[in-house]
Amino acid sequence: MEELLKQIFDKLLISYGFQEWWPGEGLEIAIGAVLTQQTNWNNVEKALSKLRDADCLSITCLKKISLEKLEQLIKSSGYYKVKAQRLKNLIELLSINSNPSREDLLEVKGIGYETADSILLYLFEKLYFVIDSYTFRIIRRMGIYSGKNYLELQRVFIDNLPKDIQLYKEYHALLVKHAKGCCLKNNPKCDLCPLKDKCIYYTRKTKIFDFSKSNIKG
Ligand code: SF4
Repeated sequence: MEELLKQIFDKLLISYGFQEWWPGEGLEIAIGAVLTQQTNWNNVEKALSKLRDADCLSITCLKKISLEKLEQLIKSSGYYKVKAQRLKNLIELLSINSNPSREDLLEVKGIGYETADSILLYLFEKLYFVIDSYTFRIIRRMGIYSGKNYLELQRVFIDNLPKDIQLYKEYHALLVKHAKGCCLKNNPKCDLCPLKDKCIYYTRKTKIFDFSKSNIKG
């Protein structure tokens, strides 16, 4: 497994280059991690831009601003009422705890493993491999893990990769890039895929039809 995960990383890196992701820096990373829940990054960018224009990418402003005003500023990210409350909850924590643990973050209403780990890895540079729906899709298709459990899949990466924060960041970013551009939800572009020689989905799809076992009569 160690070798396979290394090969996947190397192939993705050769194909896409370093992503140097997550976009943004500082508190913006934590805000983006909440805003990106159930939406694409373009919508998050619009919301971040509104917050920037309102000079409200700080703990001070986000604590002070009314919930209604915050809802309006982040409207483009969708589910804005829920997300505004989640942001308020997160800011409340960060205003009293500048170095939260995973447990601290998970206690915040609306923060699950993926959001917590994104904040921990990309903002606080802690060793948490981020799993998202893109990771599940690629890894399932490649035949590496077929379950649905976040912690189990995370364990596959943690147990088989060197403990390296930059590697964790880059690996996650490359998986996102691959899922968005090639391993699409519908009609993945397998013929163009750098991982196809390791992929069970591709092998099954392209398996040569055995006419001797066919029930089709001529
Ligand atoms: S071969 Fe197809 S299914 Fe497999 S990882 Fe590549 S794009 Fe996804």
